[in-house]
Amino acid sequence: MAAEIKVQVVRKSDEATDIISLELASCNGAPLPPFSAGSHIDVVLPNGQRRQYSLCNDPEETHRYQIAVLREVAGRGGSVAMHALREGDVIAISPPRNHFALSSESGPSLLLAGGIGITPILCMAERLSASSAPFDLHYFSRSAQRTAFRDRILTSPFASSCNFHYDDEPAERKIELEDLLRSSSPEMHLYVCGPAGFMEAVLATARGLGWAETRLHYEFFSAPTDQTHIDEAFQIQLASSALRCRD
Ligand SMILES: Cc1cc2nc3c(=O)[nH]c(=O)nc-3n(C[C@H](O)[C@H](O)[C@H](O)COP(=O)(O)OP(=O)(O)OC[C@H]3O[C@@H](n4cnc5c(N)ncnc54)[C@H](O)[C@@H]3O)c2cc1C
Repeated sequence: MAAEIKVQVVRKSDEATDIISLELASCNGAPLPPFSAGSHIDVVLPNGQRRQYSLCNDPEETHRYQIAVLREVAGRGGSVAMHALREGDVIAISPPRNHFALSSESGPSLLLAGGIGITPILCMAERLSASSAPFDLHYFSRSAQRTAFRDRILTSPFASSCNFHYDDEPAERKIELEDLLRSSSPEMHLYVCGPAGFMEAVLATARGLGWAETRLHYEFFSAPTDQTHIDEAFQIQLASSALRCRD
């Protein structure tokens, strides 16, 4: 990995059912590279797997990165390995990259998060709040117990801009995506992150209501193909002879 940074896990916390957060600090005490809201880092796991995680702390901070990880038992083991990390462990990460940046830190924004998709969205909410930009945050999750950073949001300066929606709440309290997107002002920018089905429903509804593509911003968390075994030289030895072949 280019320009790899060694960081130490300085804090590990339970944020919700199946979700932990990890606080990472540089091993030599040097400030970490700056980042903007919506950025993510690559993490190289002790088993060589590489996964991406969005930064969810205040972008003004240079002494730490905070990430949160949903345990996905149906996956290839990356999130399970992340959950096994302990305070004191040293891991390698990439510098932050941003493919999901705020297009404006002053205009009105509609932030929609589904489940663990809150990570980049929370960072955006904190950035918009710090610059006094108008925004609404709608955070959809299965239940209050599965809602990471609920207390952090409820005690934040932007608590009144945040609406929580739970799958297990009574039908009369549920909000229709179409009503939500229809009632938004025409100059608003939409930012959405969460499970693929949730994002596809949000984007299809917005497009159906005539939202311009330039106002739609999104990031899918689907993992890229694991490339840890690609682009590396390897040798094979035929069992029946001493012949060695290089790729
Ligand atoms: C830019 C970016 C930012 C991200 N930010 C975060 C974040 O902040 N927090 C976070 O928790 N995750 C984040 N992710 C996702 C993260 O990188 C990992 O993909 C995630 O932790 C799951 O890794 P895994 O190896 O456990 O599962 P993966 O193998 O990546 O699988 C993920 C899911 O895909 C499905 N799947 C995989 N393989 C199969 C299969 N063979 N058959 C059927 N279904 C399958 C399963 O539903 C599984 O749960 C982000 C991803 C990207 C690209």
